[in-house]
Formats: sequence, C-alpha cells, structure tokens
Amino acid sequence: MNRGTKVLIIICTGMLISGCIAVVWYQKNRVQVRIPVIDLKKLEGKENIVPILVLGSGPASLAAALYGSRAGVRTLVLRGNKAGGQLMGTSYIENWPAIKKIRGPEVMSDFDDQVTTFGGVMLADAASSIDLLEWPYKITTEEGHTLYALSLMIGTGATPRTLKIPGEAEYWGRGVTTCAICDAPYHKGDSVVVIGGGDSAMEEALELSAYAKEVHVLVRSNELRASVSMIERVKECVNVQIHFNKALSEIKGDGKHVTSAMVKDTKTLQETEWPIRGVFLAIGHIPNTSLFKGILNVDKEGCLKVAPYHQTTNWPGVVAAGDVSDPYYRQAGVAAGDGIRAGLDLVWWLTEKGYNASWQEKLEPFFFDPTVMEKKKLEEISSTLEYKELLKTAKEEVIVLDFFTPYCPSCLQMLPILETAAAKLSGKIRFCKVDASIAYDLVKKFKVTDVPFMVVIKNGQAIDHVKDAMSRAELYAYLKKQLA
Ligand code: NAP
Repeated sequence: MNRGTKVLIIICTGMLISGCIAVVWYQKNRVQVRIPVIDLKKLEGKENIVPILVLGSGPASLAAALYGSRAGVRTLVLRGNKAGGQLMGTSYIENWPAIKKIRGPEVMSDFDDQVTTFGGVMLADAASSIDLLEWPYKITTEEGHTLYALSLMIGTGATPRTLKIPGEAEYWGRGVTTCAICDAPYHKGDSVVVIGGGDSAMEEALELSAYAKEVHVLVRSNELRASVSMIERVKECVNVQIHFNKALSEIKGDGKHVTSAMVKDTKTLQETEWPIRGVFLAIGHIPNTSLFKGILNVDKEGCLKVAPYHQTTNWPGVVAAGDVSDPYYRQAGVAAGDGIRAGLDLVWWLTEKGYNASWQEKLEPFFFDPTVMEKKKLEEISSTLEYKELLKTAKEEVIVLDFFTPYCPSCLQMLPILETAAAKLSGKIRFCKVDASIAYDLVKKFKVTDVPFMVVIKNGQAIDHVKDAMSRAELYAYLKKQLA
C-alpha cells in the first residue's frame, strides 16, 4: 500500500467516525417533535381545562374569541402584557369597515364587551410557557396558573422594531419612544424626529405636530410606504417636514434626556448633529413567536405559517391570526377577518374530534375557574394634600404611585397588571393612581416626564421611579426587590 492510499484511508476513517459522532449527538440532542394524539378520554382526571384558549387581545384574538364563544364553546382569553394590542396606540382609525372614524382604544373596548356578551372570559394574565408536545396543551401563566387547553389560538402580535444604535437603550423613555399618543404632550415647543416612512410614522408625526415646534420625519430610502391619504394629511401640517435618504446613527443626551442625534445621509454617508429632544420610532414590528420555537413553522419574515384559506398551523388544534402570522397586510381589519377564520377553524376542529355539548357539560366541573384571579381597584389621588394624607394613613411598608393619562395606551395596559398586583400584595404595598393630566403639583413634585411613570415610596421618601410600562414578570421582580 503506498503512502497516498494510507492517507486516504486515514481521512475516510476520520470522516466516518466524526459522521457517527454527529449522528449520535443529533439523536441525543434533537427536540422530540412528535405530533400528540388527540383523544377526549385523556381529559378524565385533568383540572383547569380550557376548550379554546386565546393568547392575546388584539383584533385577531378577540374576533376568534367572539366566534368561539358565540358557537357555545367555552373560551378564555389571556389578554397578555399589552392588552388590546397595537390599536391601543393609534389615534383615529378611518379604515375600520363601516365606521368612518373611531379611536383605536374605543374599538378594542367595544370588542371586549362583545366577546363577554357571548360568554367569553378575559383574564389579565399572559402565557409564560407552552408545552405542545402532549395534548391537552399545558400552558403556564405569569400569574402562576397551569391551564390545559384543548385548542389554542395564537394572536400574540408583534413587538415594535428598534434601531440598535448607540444611545437608544440609554435614553429609552427619556426622549426615545414608540408612542406619540403617550409622550407627545411632553414635547411642547421641542424639535423631534420620527423614524420611518410607513403609516405608523405618518400617524406619529400628525400626533406630534399638535405639540412640537418642528417634526422631522426621517426616511432611509427615497420613498414612502404610507398610504396616500396619510401622506396628504402630513403634508398639510406646516411644522412637519419629510426628509428622504436620512437615517439615525446615534442618539445623544445630557445623561437625563435626549439633546441631539447624529443624522446620516444614506447616499453621501455624511453625518450631521441635529439638536432634538425626542426620537419617535415607527419602523415596523417583529412577530412574537418565541414561545413556539422549534414546534410551529415560521416563514422567512418570522411569521407563523398558516395553511392556505385557513388559519391552521402545522400543529393540531393550533391556529394563528393577526400580525404574528401576517407578513403582508398587517391591518386591523384583516387581523379581525383572519381571527374569525381562526375561531371557526377551532370550532370545526373540536367538533371533528368529537367535542360537543354533552362533552362540555361533562367537563364543566373541571374547567378553569377564572374567578381565582383577584383584582383590587387602585385608589386615586390628585393633589399634594391627598398625598400627605396618604402618607399619614398608609399602614403598608411601600407605597406605589402610578402616574397615567387617560389616553396613554401603555398606561391602560399596565392598569390591570397593577390591579392584580394590588390584590396579591395587599397589606404590603399600597397602590395609588395619579392622573398626570390634572395632578400638576404631584407631576412637578415627582418630576414626571413621561407616562406611565411609577414612583416607589418607603418611609415617606420617594426611593425609586420607573419610566415606561413593565410586563407582569418584570413588575413582580421589581416589587419583590423593593420589599426586600
Ligand atoms: P411599515 O409599513 O412596514 O413601514 C416601516 C417603515 O420603517 C418603512 O418606511 C421602512 O423603510 C422603515 N424602516 C424599517 N426598518 C428601518 C430601520 N432600521 N431604519 C430606518 N427605517 C426603517 O410599518 P408601519 O408603518 O408600522 O405599518 C405596518 C402596517 O400597519 C401597514 O400595513 C400600515 O398600512 C398599517 N398601519 C395603518 C395605519 C392606519 O391606517 N391608520 C396606521 C399605522 C399602521 P423601508 O421602506 O426602507 O423598508
């Protein structure tokens, strides 16, 4: 055997051994993705059963919940950490079919009422983990419940995209935001920039034009994606200017608030510093699919894949609708329409699996009882006098003041989370809300610059504050630290 043949044999043997190791490693480590067997008899002995569980409370979720509950199937909605979804952050909607003009939050509130009228139940809670490998599907919630869902509608929506540039994280909530409805009133007489060229950017610019001195919309390319009617409305505002081929490369501040931004010309790559006080991001969204990784198929945009003409995913009894599964339209009306299909898909699927009125009756004692979720309404204070009285009378170790305004969507989304925390931590923490649009002396006293804004008081002293909304998990972790 010559030297060349020997080397070849050694290389081939090496490749064979590493191939075998790789196969063994793969077999050992791969997630066992087996489609579960659906058999109603498996439900015997199970507690906390939910026939249709809806994750999310935007238009897609509530439309699915409406069709599920209207068909007589017990339906539970886990509203999530951003109850009401993206419509809560819009001002007026002019393209909700058959209604000429309506506020986003009003649509969602009417939707809530309609679902509950048909027996659907809303819960201020969010899924923290989901096991789809066994049926019924096991869902653990942030409030600590374990639910067994016979079918699942995913309407978890999408999260606003960020730029990931220097200064963005540092000044988040201190001039950098995604919500003009919440923060525009804090920019009276300021120069601000809006990033993006879609309908959201136009909407942010319109909202800001009522308060800011100058609104500069920066579009990275030379074209807008926004609809003609929105562009026309923006063009009518004398203090709004659209700049093409412009992008932000850095956000600067004085340690407390944004003071300027580096603006790059995307053609010449030249950078200039613009003195501004606010950065409003409107650059699209990323679908919220992390809970289903490795199980449900996603497309190249990261959206959950659904079957043509249906909202069914690759998993039995699991449907998806709205921005989590829509890479094209991303319209509230389309989300609601797809939610209807999703609701019907689940009702038909359950029926096909043998679920009917007599099964529902049989399982009734084992259904999840939503009344276990207690809530406590927050008392409201609106003056320094009332605050002083609170300090005198409060027996709790810690007082939390939640500054809000009636039209701030993240404030409305935080409220049910705070109400459940108030019930859970009753006796330890006293929660009060303060309407920042009327309680001027308290706004001044606690230097409130944006809402939501939470102040923590211990031994009569403000010891900490939090800007921006928090998820349920973040809130509990934060409060635990304050009590320690
Ligand atoms: P969008 O239509 O996807 O527009 C996103 C914009 O952000 C685009 O101009 C995009 O630029 C830009 N962008 C993305 N990443 C960027 C980055 N890293 N840096 C700078 N710019 C960036 O998103 P949207 O405005 O949120 O709208 C989403 C959907 O909701 C649309 O279908 C819209 O019609 C709808 N919507 C409707 C209303 C209404 O009817 N009242 C209101 C809001 C939203 P490129 O074009 O270069 O990618």
